[in-house]
Amino acid sequence: MSAKNNVTMEKLTALCKRRGFIFPTCDIYGGFANSYSYGPYGTELKNNIKKLWWKKFVQDRPDMVGIDGPILLHPKLWEASGHTESFNDAMIDCKKCKKRFRADHLVEELTGQDMEGELEKINKTLKKLKAKCPECGASDWTAAKNFNMMFQTQMNGFEGSVYLRPETAGAIFVEFKNIVDSMRVKVPFGIAQIGKAFRNEIVAGNFIFRLREFEQMEIEYFIDPLVEWKDLFEQWLQLQEEFIMEVGADKKNLRRYEHPKAKLSHYSKKTIDIEYRYPFGFKELFGLAHRTDFDLTAHSKKSNQKLEYFDPVKNRRYTPHVLEPTFGLDRTILVALLSAYREEKLEKETRVFLDFPKKIAPVKAAIFPLLKNKKELVKKAKEVFDGLKEKFALEFDDHGNIGKRYRRQDEIGTPYCITIDFDSLKDNTVTIRERNSMKQERIKIKELNDYLNKGIAKG
Ligand code: ATP
Repeated sequence: MSAKNNVTMEKLTALCKRRGFIFPTCDIYGGFANSYSYGPYGTELKNNIKKLWWKKFVQDRPDMVGIDGPILLHPKLWEASGHTESFNDAMIDCKKCKKRFRADHLVEELTGQDMEGELEKINKTLKKLKAKCPECGASDWTAAKNFNMMFQTQMNGFEGSVYLRPETAGAIFVEFKNIVDSMRVKVPFGIAQIGKAFRNEIVAGNFIFRLREFEQMEIEYFIDPLVEWKDLFEQWLQLQEEFIMEVGADKKNLRRYEHPKAKLSHYSKKTIDIEYRYPFGFKELFGLAHRTDFDLTAHSKKSNQKLEYFDPVKNRRYTPHVLEPTFGLDRTILVALLSAYREEKLEKETRVFLDFPKKIAPVKAAIFPLLKNKKELVKKAKEVFDGLKEKFALEFDDHGNIGKRYRRQDEIGTPYCITIDFDSLKDNTVTIRERNSMKQERIKIKELNDYLNKGIAKG
């Protein structure tokens, strides 16, 4: 019988909690502001995705280097980038039930029009349409107003406010000069970073889709302003799509949305969002923007430092332009989970499993001694575990009957389960069972390493 995707957000959040992927945080205090903790399997999954990204975009490419900058950065950076002045979203409150909303999202739902950043139009439209509060149905609104999304804090030894970075990119631009001076990079080259970003979102929600504390994987790719960029832009888009398909997304659930010229930031030549069809509709997953020399020029002016590159071959000094591919890590994890979810009707039950590409599965193989109370079986199973643990993320499980152990591993997406039984003691063979087909094979213990390697490489 064939397995179906059939995923809903309810099913996924329940599975994530039940099986230790993602928990609503501070549950014991009644939850906290749509925030989540990654549990043991969620953490493994996240680390595997980060590793895959770092390998693909940093280690495997001679034109890329990676950094790890701080979350607290000089506030002048955010003045130069425009965040202090204009990193705003429009908020509106229902006067009756006091619930707060993103005003532009309310308008978008009613009219299908994108009015981000257009306060006046938003206010007029809401009035004209007598928009109702989605929570209580009243039509009594405060005026929509701008709200700056940066979290502010104080720092010892520093006067005035500092901010938790609202994106990782800023930390890259301020190290541009250090990278050029220390790394012998040649344009075109890119600087990559993975790390936390913080935005005081007016409404967080849809599980880990919109969080106030989240992770980004970002690249600033520096190019010669006189060189044609359109092909390179297209290549980056394709690489972004390729990456999300490597974590399991189906191409048919992806689409591109090009920001209309009129809505582009004044400095951007082109911006495209890669959108994914989540159960709550097509929404942004990744973005790619041509940001010209806006950032380097702005930081150069603010800091009075030259942020330029000298090309020894062309004998030219210039401020590079930049292409910025940005990837939300939490949204990547959400897409990996949504894409992997499977339900399969068996004779007596419905089996749920996660069909992760094997390289991102949190556990690659589970090792089961058939019976917990037979010392020789447990000893042999531990030997198998020790023989494989250097190379593979494993789990040892001796709880309950084998059928239940299989179901548990299916639900966390473990590609292989290995059972050590009485025959194993005699002939050094084990049963290995594959997640999707549930097919079982008998193989020699000494062949396990190769078997797993080959299976995982196939994806
Ligand atoms: P949105 O329109 O959904 O608010 P954005 O256009 O503000 O997103 P960017 O500023 O382009 O997002 O941020 C880059 C990436 O960071 C996004 O493509 C997304 O994957 C991720 N991201 C942005 N905001 C959040 C958030 N609040 N929670 C989780 N991920 C986020």
